[in-house]
Amino acid sequence: MRVVVAGAGLAGLAAADALATAGHEPVVLEARDRVGGRVHSLALDNGAIVEMGAEFILPGCTEVLGLADRLGLGLWDKGMRYGKRDPRGVEMADGSMEAAVGALDAALAAGAGEGLSVRGLLGRLDIDPGAREAILARAEVSAAADGDLVPAHELGLLARVSDLPAPGIAGGNQRLAEALADAVGRERIHLGSPVRSVAATASGVEVRTEAGELAAAACVIAVPASVAGGIAIEGVPGAAEALAAVVYGHAAKLFVPLPAPVPVSATLSVPDRYWAWTASGDDEAASQPLISAFAGSPRALDGLGVTSGPDLWAAKLAELRPDLAIDRAQAVLSTWDDDPWVGAAYSVDAPPDAFELLTAGSERIAFAGEHLGGDMSALMEGAIRSGRRAAAAIAPN
Ligand SMILES: Cc1cc2nc3c(=O)[nH]c(=O)nc-3n(C[C@H](O)[C@H](O)[C@H](O)COP(=O)(O)OP(=O)(O)OC[C@H]3O[C@@H](n4cnc5c(N)ncnc54)[C@H](O)[C@@H]3O)c2cc1C
Repeated sequence: MRVVVAGAGLAGLAAADALATAGHEPVVLEARDRVGGRVHSLALDNGAIVEMGAEFILPGCTEVLGLADRLGLGLWDKGMRYGKRDPRGVEMADGSMEAAVGALDAALAAGAGEGLSVRGLLGRLDIDPGAREAILARAEVSAAADGDLVPAHELGLLARVSDLPAPGIAGGNQRLAEALADAVGRERIHLGSPVRSVAATASGVEVRTEAGELAAAACVIAVPASVAGGIAIEGVPGAAEALAAVVYGHAAKLFVPLPAPVPVSATLSVPDRYWAWTASGDDEAASQPLISAFAGSPRALDGLGVTSGPDLWAAKLAELRPDLAIDRAQAVLSTWDDDPWVGAAYSVDAPPDAFELLTAGSERIAFAGEHLGGDMSALMEGAIRSGRRAAAAIAPN
């Protein structure tokens, strides 16, 4: 079967890889002039490799690890722990954070979060107000959204204090996308080819790009729901509404090269809703002369003035970490809200009806993307799982 795949992020590439492995013929149409989508690594002038988008392979991301292994890619354990951040800018009594996390875990285990938002559940717990604000800040930063929009059950993942490593792909996560594209076959991937419409026909699908029309047996639409409105879809009633119902978060990252690697650290600015880390692991190759920061939620982006450039955030970072030689003039900002092929960071919530309709798709049109990654949505893992699921649904072995 010839199957068109719209989008060459990890979801589309995973779908194309599964299709090719099953003996089908994927044709990948990608709007950008590169593969990887929200996985995009860049080298700074001082040699440090930064992740403009996805950075950490979180605990439980088994498919990312399996794929890296299959493609012969190594891992960088960056030394710091994603699950441990030192909260700053908030007052709390000694030991109150541990007590608050314990109370939260117990509440979640008892099902107290059912039907509540993150803010709603935290508001009901009898915990230290400073600890509550720090947990809320961490959840809002990671979900990239206001606590009212984030379902409380996500707190189990978002606020987990953990010592588990969250590595990246050695040399940058982009290598995962590139190696997957090689496995699919570069001749099957067409860059600079935004899909404009997908219509089911009596015998298959017709896919239109600016270059013309393409007929195929089926199509996997693996573009973010936030921009899927740019594709006219015929043949899945209700798809446009379901895609529009997916709620997205907003995030940005900041990187400042340092003269030399520094010890590992992870600091959360509670009032400004961002966290910053240095990630110089024991592994020399993973030692990066760099401080990185991630801000999540519209409130964070407004407060840090990211639409005006990196200056304000870099100044605040220098205040947060006066111990480091932060040269504000060298700060590099990564934003996604102004990116035409996503226009946001990642999904916060796919309402159940929308999720069901999109994962069901139709006989000839399937949907993929991190927003359909279920428990692993918003992550590389969710993108890969969704792509494989879509490929299996549309073109069984
Ligand atoms: C700032 C930031 C930090 C993140 N941090 C992490 C992290 O630490 N760990 C983690 O696991 N995940 C993280 N993520 C999330 C992760 O990047 C995504 O979940 C994952 O990469 C999404 O893959 P995808 O294939 O679903 O979407 P995308 O990567 O967005 O791929 C979709 C592709 O479709 C293309 N496209 C769009 N419209 C069209 C069209 N009309 N026609 C053709 N092509 C089109 C796009 O150009 C893109 O290449 C982060 C994301 C961001 C933005």
